[in-house]
Amino acid sequence: MKTFRLDNALPLNTTIPEPSLICLIGAAGSGKSTWASTWPDTQVLELDRFRAMVSDDGGCQESTADAVFALQAVLEARLARRKMTVIDATNCEKSVRADLVATARRHGLPTVALVIATLADVCVERQEGRPANRQVPEHVVRAQHAAMVEVVPGLPDEGFDYVVGAEGISRLEALLHCVSDSRRADLGWDGGEGLGDLLLVRRYFGPEILPLWRWRDASVLADGDRVAEVRLGADSLYLAQRTDIDGEGDVGFEVLVA
Ligand code: GDP
Ligand code: MG
Repeated sequence: MKTFRLDNALPLNTTIPEPSLICLIGAAGSGKSTWASTWPDTQVLELDRFRAMVSDDGGCQESTADAVFALQAVLEARLARRKMTVIDATNCEKSVRADLVATARRHGLPTVALVIATLADVCVERQEGRPANRQVPEHVVRAQHAAMVEVVPGLPDEGFDYVVGAEGISRLEALLHCVSDSRRADLGWDGGEGLGDLLLVRRYFGPEILPLWRWRDASVLADGDRVAEVRLGADSLYLAQRTDIDGEGDVGFEVLVA
């Protein structure tokens, strides 16, 4: 077992070796995706995300076979490169776990079962806050929870090299790093250039707009306010940045019509 260190962070005492294949095991609503979010996005293979990629609906159970097929293809490619990988799915079925363990073995990577043993009542309660297509019926959640409890003692015999309870690892600091890294880069605190006068633009419109955005020296068009040109192909728009768009001091943007 290995303790690893994040840049600029205190050492974290975890039992998770790197690289490894981490299989989250827990009922719907137990917090799998929340735990998964403590690893970088590219390392997490979330079954609901693959359901959405093949069917536009992350809750579409009918698409499960296609979603699993696509997930396995990505998993193979990652493990062949010895890349840390987290499987965010309930993984409550034995055959599903057996496939994951066999794949990791074939590539010589250790396997970690990360068990998220949140109480069944809490998992059920959490369904209420979800969008309708993502709500899992109570009897299914309770069955998944019961399966999770039942399989834990046998996980080492199934071939998992490490079995870790979610309560036994420290990932909060890793999560804060994940969420603060892009903010630090935006501000230039990572030694890079930062976004400078594009910071507001990114926060207002999102990152997709940045490559298309150019501040223009055209404030006469906008009573002294800054003007930006957004161009995509032959299409372009001029926007004025208003420092007080509503008389209440709120910042906003207005489209300038010629
Ligand atoms: P999943 O279905 O297992 O992927 O569960 P999610 O990760 O989507 O979590 C379900 C809900 O519970 C979300 O609203 C989370 O924000 C919340 N949640 C999950 N884990 C925790 C936790 O450890 N603490 C708190 N406060 N909320 C949590
Ligand atoms: Mg989830």
